[in-house]
Amino acid sequence: MTGKPPFEPWGRYPKYNANVVPLQWQSDFPAIVSRYGGMHNGALAVGMGRSYGDVCLLKDGNLMVTTGMNRILGWDPETGILTAEAGMTLAQILDFCVPRGYFLPVTPGTKYVTLGGAIANDIHGKNHHVAGTFGCHVPEFELVRSDGTHLRCSATENPDWYAATIGGLGLTGVITWAKLKMKPIVSRKIDYEGIQFHGVDEFLALTEASKHVEYTVSWIDCSSTGKNFARGVFMQGDHTRNPGELKPSPEPKLIFPIEAPGFMLNSASVAAFNTVFFHKQMKKRVTALQDYEPFFYPLDKVLKWNRMYGTSGLLQFQYAIPWEHAREGTIAILNEVAKSGLASFLAVLKAFGDVPSPGLLSFPQPGITLALDFPIKPGKSFPLFDRLAQMTLEFGGKLYPAKDARMTATQYQKSYPEWQQFLRYKDPLLSSSFWERVTREE
Ligand SMILES: Cc1cc2nc3c(=O)[nH]c(=O)nc-3n(C[C@H](O)[C@H](O)[C@H](O)COP(=O)(O)OP(=O)(O)OC[C@H]3O[C@@H](n4cnc5c(N)ncnc54)[C@H](O)[C@@H]3O)c2cc1C
Repeated sequence: MTGKPPFEPWGRYPKYNANVVPLQWQSDFPAIVSRYGGMHNGALAVGMGRSYGDVCLLKDGNLMVTTGMNRILGWDPETGILTAEAGMTLAQILDFCVPRGYFLPVTPGTKYVTLGGAIANDIHGKNHHVAGTFGCHVPEFELVRSDGTHLRCSATENPDWYAATIGGLGLTGVITWAKLKMKPIVSRKIDYEGIQFHGVDEFLALTEASKHVEYTVSWIDCSSTGKNFARGVFMQGDHTRNPGELKPSPEPKLIFPIEAPGFMLNSASVAAFNTVFFHKQMKKRVTALQDYEPFFYPLDKVLKWNRMYGTSGLLQFQYAIPWEHAREGTIAILNEVAKSGLASFLAVLKAFGDVPSPGLLSFPQPGITLALDFPIKPGKSFPLFDRLAQMTLEFGGKLYPAKDARMTATQYQKSYPEWQQFLRYKDPLLSSSFWERVTREE
């Protein structure tokens, strides 16, 4: 089956032709990995394609889509350990676990990602400062290599493969199933608090004061300058301790109806959105008892919202800058963005904590992370990305592969020096367009 139209990631850039191979049964392994890996241009496992750029693409290769492998294999109500096939989505896991009084230990800003994709990008959530990355909560998984080996991986069994595969971008083999340690809850509600702030220093002070709160994240206005520079809303919350309803939040019903024309997102519309968002919260501080769905997944409310950016798509730019340069780096980058006149209306600022990740190539590191969405306007957004990437490196930071489609080989190899060590674990028949780009000689 040939994937037509071309396979595209969430950001819709780049788009490449690929042969789409649906995976259904574990009994098909390892034959399917060696078969497709051995074909023209090799193979790559993919989940929901919710990565923004090319870590989930393989130009003219074989994309093994795992979402058909989404069965629960085991559940221990005493320990909260779920065993599931790697194509199960976090949405499906929530549907099973919330009624049983358990929640995801770490969740990204969308629930439409798979267990395998979450491990391979070693994703982070709003609780990174207390819980670390997703991989910290995966005690064991199985990895199938194209040479036919099945490896059970944990901190004690094949620990080097365990470390290489968490954050290993799908390049060490295919994860067929994994265990995930869920977190007990007594209600689906979150005790929420939103606080307006002005400037990076106020954000840092709020971060320091909220170390004990489980979830923290900030929306930041990156289009304003002058007295409104770096204004934002600091959002924090804990699972409520008051017993309440344990039902999954309702599924989103809206779907973005059309391919929006490119002019819809311009600096004026984004500046207007930012002003409305900032003032939506009328008071300096608001509190609410909120369902987990709007708290964790506000963007999931509108399915296919990436269409809002039109067919040319969008790209995120996400950095992590270590504490040493985090403040000055963040101010400099926000200034550069505001100066560029290019609008990002989804700008998220957060502090990463110091819980170490088990992954060799994981992105999070202690410091500040900023994620910005930009519509793709070749000739305009790419030069800005290049400047921001360069600045990030100068401040000792790195970019997030899950959001990237622009990093150069030199930038990647400088900021992920462990990549050399990782080569020992890379499956020779698996690759991605990201990997081919960032390991190419320049
Ligand atoms: C709205 C939105 C919000 C987001 N918020 C966050 C956030 O807060 N934090 C964060 O960290 N990320 C965030 N992301 C990024 C997203 O969480 C990651 O890109 C995630 O890995 C996507 O999972 P997926 O199942 O779609 O995997 P894909 O995008 O399909 O693939 C991701 C990687 O996983 C590999 N892979 C997939 N399945 C397997 C398998 N079975 N075995 C081996 N390798 C496999 C692929 O080869 C690829 O390298 C967000 C994305 C969106 C769209």
